[in-house]
Amino acid sequence: MAFYSEEDNADDYLFKIVLIGDSAVGKSNLLARFARDEFYPNSKSTIGVEFQTQKMDFDGKEVKAQIWDTAGQERFRAVTSAYYRGAVGALVVYDISRRQTFESIGRWLNELHTHSDMNVVTILVGNKSDLKEAREVTTAEGKALAEAQGLFFMETSALDSSNVTAAFETVVKEIYNILSRKVI
Ligand code: GDP
Ligand code: MG
Repeated sequence: MAFYSEEDNADDYLFKIVLIGDSAVGKSNLLARFARDEFYPNSKSTIGVEFQTQKMDFDGKEVKAQIWDTAGQERFRAVTSAYYRGAVGALVVYDISRRQTFESIGRWLNELHTHSDMNVVTILVGNKSDLKEAREVTTAEGKALAEAQGLFFMETSALDSSNVTAAFETVVKEIYNILSRKVI
């Protein structure tokens, strides 16, 4: 079954999740905050890891989320199909203080749907919610887009940790729920 891959333990699940969105919206910092509780005030694409595996527990079952981060190639609009291959979840990220990154979301969703052959569980993430004074995209606009596209939605801050764990968990939990329904 292409939907997930089993490791040694038949009760373990491994889900590939991809982070996408314009350059500098905070993808790498969301992952750093979630997986290592770290933040990089002046990060460059060099902090990127290829992927990071994070364990989570649902109903006493161990679920591993293998979260993929771009190595800055999104700057050149050159995220490869290999990056998307096998992904069952996605966080599509914009920066609430840069409207242009919100306007790119449609393009990222198109790219995601072009490269993935199944319904990828997707959350729209408005990051940098701490930048209240500089906000250019309202919460209502984010919510409306997510509703129109059938996506989960959350505003996050990798800086102050707000909703970071919740955003990743929303995706992984939904995948887990779909999978448990399908297998039974
Ligand atoms: P990426 O290119 O999407 O991976 O973005 P990075 O994670 O490299 O972040 C780009 C810049 O935005 C860096 O200077 C980060 O410190 C900053 N940044 C990331 N997340 C946040 C956030 O939630 N709040 C604020 N204020 N800055 C952030
Ligand atoms: Mg990055």
